[in-house]
Amino acid sequence: MKIIKTIAALKMLLEPLKRAQQKIALVPTMGALHKGHVSLIAMAKKQADLVVCSIFVNPTQFTDTKDLEKYPRPLEHDIQQLEEAGCDVVFMPSVEEMYPQPETWQINLGAAEFLLEGEFRKGHYQGVTQIVKKLFDAVEPDLAFFGQKDFQQVLMIEKMVEHFNLEVKIVSCPIIRENDGLAMSSRNIHLTAADHEHALVLSKSLEYVRNNFKSKAIEELVSEAKTMINAEPGVALDYFTIVNGETLLPETDKNAPYLVALVAAKVGETRLIDNMLLH
Ligand code: AMP
Repeated sequence: MKIIKTIAALKMLLEPLKRAQQKIALVPTMGALHKGHVSLIAMAKKQADLVVCSIFVNPTQFTDTKDLEKYPRPLEHDIQQLEEAGCDVVFMPSVEEMYPQPETWQINLGAAEFLLEGEFRKGHYQGVTQIVKKLFDAVEPDLAFFGQKDFQQVLMIEKMVEHFNLEVKIVSCPIIRENDGLAMSSRNIHLTAADHEHALVLSKSLEYVRNNFKSKAIEELVSEAKTMINAEPGVALDYFTIVNGETLLPETDKNAPYLVALVAAKVGETRLIDNMLLH
């Protein structure tokens, strides 16, 4: 596996492969890799000739400086994980490499930018789409793999791709969970054993909704899920909602074509998100 730190070196490495019509996949990450990330690499390997994984903790998408400072950065562990996963290239640029000067970035991501995570983390998706565009410019991938875990993120990246009319194909991959149901996340490292137990209410409430979807009204399911979460000690709910997966607006019609339940909550000191497709 090649370890590359500059855009120039990356372009030099990829150019002959592109000329030889090789399919290149990009898996953008912020490191602290777990099985969720590894599953994206595995999916990418199936669909491309060469897989580039980027590791970059992007400052412009953090709305809380403490969250940015304490974001885990276990680089040696990450490199080993990527070697084992069969990744071909890891791109690990510095902040200066990606942002040689401060930049203003405002693109129209549509009304959904300001809902859910966008409401709780102002400007988050401008930061996310900015760095993903920079990574796309550096790699010029044919395909890019993202996790459904960050459901709204995938939607926002699709909007950015539309905005710039890019040719890259966005692939959304299923959520990988611990055996007990907790969605894997780099932030889980901050959970104490008690937090971890409390955090299970998030996946349990989503499962409850999915299992009872046929027999109950959406309003009732949302209300019951919120009651479950609010009853759990150490968990402060930001939102639990069932929405149209394209607009992210709340939906009450069970026959709507694309429904997803999304939840966000602070568990102890750690903010977690999770979601489940309903059909
Ligand atoms: P992050 O490093 O948290 O920015 O995540 C990098 C990519 O991995 C994003 O596309 C995430 O959606 C994806 N990802 C994170 N956690 C999971 C998971 N549990 N299952 C599948 N994909 C995930």
